[in-house]
Amino acid sequence: MKIVAIANQKGGVAKTTTAINLAASLAEAGHRVLVIDMDPQGNASTGFGIGLDQRQLTVYDLLLGDVSAEAAVVETETERVWLIPATTELSSSDVQLFNVNKRSFLLKDSLAATGLKAQRFDFVLIDCPPSLNLLTVNALVAADSVLIPLQSEFFALEGLSQLMLTIREIRQTANPALRVEGILLTMHDQRNNLAQQVESDARDTLGDLVYQTVIPRNVRLSEAPSYAMPAISYDSTSKGAMAYRAFAQEFLRNNNNLQKVEADG
Ligand code: ADP
Ligand code: MG
Repeated sequence: MKIVAIANQKGGVAKTTTAINLAASLAEAGHRVLVIDMDPQGNASTGFGIGLDQRQLTVYDLLLGDVSAEAAVVETETERVWLIPATTELSSSDVQLFNVNKRSFLLKDSLAATGLKAQRFDFVLIDCPPSLNLLTVNALVAADSVLIPLQSEFFALEGLSQLMLTIREIRQTANPALRVEGILLTMHDQRNNLAQQVESDARDTLGDLVYQTVIPRNVRLSEAPSYAMPAISYDSTSKGAMAYRAFAQEFLRNNNNLQKVEADG
């Protein structure tokens, strides 16, 4: 089970869109995926059609230690995708958990408890909130790697250095094994000079960390959540759906190579 946090403290860079459509694409390729909605706005939950009536148990209960992770898992309409939902309650967790001992380890400890393993997920994707708060820190402490969506616009790279600093701090303190999974350029407009500039700057400075696959701006990706489904299902052959499928293949190739390297010693 590989745990990937999808993080960027900037809002609107396609964290949730990536969580939803990467999950759906990995599931389509035969993998069992758990999405954890760590954003009080609950957009990933809504995007998978999990209504408020299905959010009796949420990430919030899990962080407070009131319930086990496996008890909070709900099934989605997408085959092989499960989800732990969020509600606005989660926004008070910074205050609620302030005095809790080891408060950065709450998610990690909850996921490590034995019950979840029985459900045999291949991937756990954590959709982070748009900030570097205690929720994001919990995600980074629990994760094996961080996937960073980057919107192809001016200042994108400045925001990234702040996130990289946080990742370094987490490595030095709570999670030495944390890796950067990769950087995904999102909402890319190929005809826009600025977008092209951001892409070439990103590839120059970040090299192999930047995925070859680039997600284009595509209206189907923004429409899909209002139909409570991934774009992969809503319009299976749209440019956006195809791009996320291609991205999932690249993501899987990277992970297979990794497993090979580890097996070869
Ligand atoms: P975040 O989770 O980082 O805040 P979202 O995934 O919610 O970002 O995306 C922000 C907005 O942009 C949403 O309305 C989403 O539907 C839209 N969006 C995301 N990716 C694309 C894309 N490639 N093309 C068009 N709209 C997109
Ligand atoms: Mg979001």
